[in-house]
Amino acid sequence: MVTSFEAIKNFFRKRATILYPEEKIEPSATFRGMLSFERSLCIGCGLCWRVCPASAIKQDRDDKGARPVFLLDRCIFCHICVEICPKKAIKASRDRGSLVMDKSSLRVK
Ligand code: SF4
Ligand code: SF4
Repeated sequence: MVTSFEAIKNFFRKRATILYPEEKIEPSATFRGMLSFERSLCIGCGLCWRVCPASAIKQDRDDKGARPVFLLDRCIFCHICVEICPKKAIKASRDRGSLVMDKSSLRVK
């Protein structure tokens, strides 16, 4: 049970939480962050959307053929697609970046 003395003591204690995004801490070297996609490198082989365990990559079509669309609100950041892409068209970053107000900004094509 919290006594009033403890409550007053905690009131003057240094804050334990971090005010993200105003205060950002550097992610660890192994942190898996947002993806970026270089459409001009893609050859439409389909490997990425076949292996994605979260169904976060959909198949789209343009005048060059089948191309991926990344739904990053579903992504679990396993980075399997990054590793499997034969053209290095998908890049991984250490950017957290998935905290957005508009979900449509997490659709990358
Ligand atoms: S990182 Fe993993 S979950 Fe996210 S799009 Fe690539 S394969 Fe799918
Ligand atoms: S694996 Fe790479 S080249 Fe193949 S469809 Fe996906 S992004 Fe394009």
